Amino acid sequence: MPLQDILGQEHAIDLLNQAIHRDRMPHAWLFTGQSNIGKFKTAVALAQKLNCRKSGEDACGECDFCLQIAEQNFPDFLVLEPEGKYIKIDQVRKSLNWLHLHPDQAKKRVLILDGAEHLGREAANAFLKTLEEPAPNTLIILIAESTQQLLETIVSRCQQIRFRPLSMETSEHILRQHTDLSQQQIQLLCEFGMGSVRGNLIANLEIMQNVQKKAIGWLTTFTSETREDLLRTCEKWGKSKNEEWRFLLDFFETWFRDLTWVLHDLPEDQIVNRNGISANTRISELKQCGKYFTLQQIFEIFRNISDSRTAIELNANKSLAIESLCLHIYRSAT
Ligand SMILES: [Zn+2]
Repeated sequence: MPLQDILGQEHAIDLLNQAIHRDRMPHAWLFTGQSNIGKFKTAVALAQKLNCRKSGEDACGECDFCLQIAEQNFPDFLVLEPEGKYIKIDQVRKSLNWLHLHPDQAKKRVLILDGAEHLGREAANAFLKTLEEPAPNTLIILIAESTQQLLETIVSRCQQIRFRPLSMETSEHILRQHTDLSQQQIQLLCEFGMGSVRGNLIANLEIMQNVQKKAIGWLTTFTSETREDLLRTCEKWGKSKNEEWRFLLDFFETWFRDLTWVLHDLPEDQIVNRNGISANTRISELKQCGKYFTLQQIFEIFRNISDSRTAIELNANKSLAIESLCLHIYRSAT
């Protein structure tokens, strides 16, 4: 795909084009930003642009090199990503050995490291060595959500580009182009995406809507029945193959964000959870929920949501983790 076809990341594309035109291409880029906003696509498009057979302004996207890169079937292009939870040292060694070989056919041999935050310490150190002594005619593109979990020494040896969340319009445009979903479904996905286009949400639209409906029910009526229902449902969702717990955490994040919005009297057209029902009904639900919480409590809830997510990622019992989060919310409200 030509770089100019990447949507919503004009700033990043600009920086890349400037580097190419001024012949200031670094040996390593670091693309950061939330997931599903085009970092990987941009990295592939850059590899195509650097190696395209046609000498146009941008990659043609159609020559055999461009096509092979798109299919990850080009001898001078490699994508390294976690096998399981981590990128293993063996994977890194193999890729770095490959990188140091002379390019087969390409002008530049490109290695993409997708999920750089999953490098273990040993693997990160191996990488660092290559970044310190880069081989000629090679380019490494590291992709990570943020620099937080990366070694500072790695970050400082790369040129960083921060990718921005996609606007609602761009997300809508992408979904309209690539799916045959209804306008209402697209809007729901954009709202939940919070600035990204998440492919996995499309298949799970119905589950997501159920989670939202159930949770809004809890958040607008805090009675003892609510508590019972909440405990029962959390147990079920934590064990379910549909991973409702994920959608619940995502939903809580957007809901409490909306709540702070309403409590601060900010413009109501910026409310994220707008789908399904009229704006007025949603605002009154939010206001109803807002009666139960102080801003201080909401910030604590935000912290709790993030802690629950981390705990689950570290293998905590899912049912218990979301149950304890929901009980925290319940207790704050009652
Ligand atoms: Zn081409």
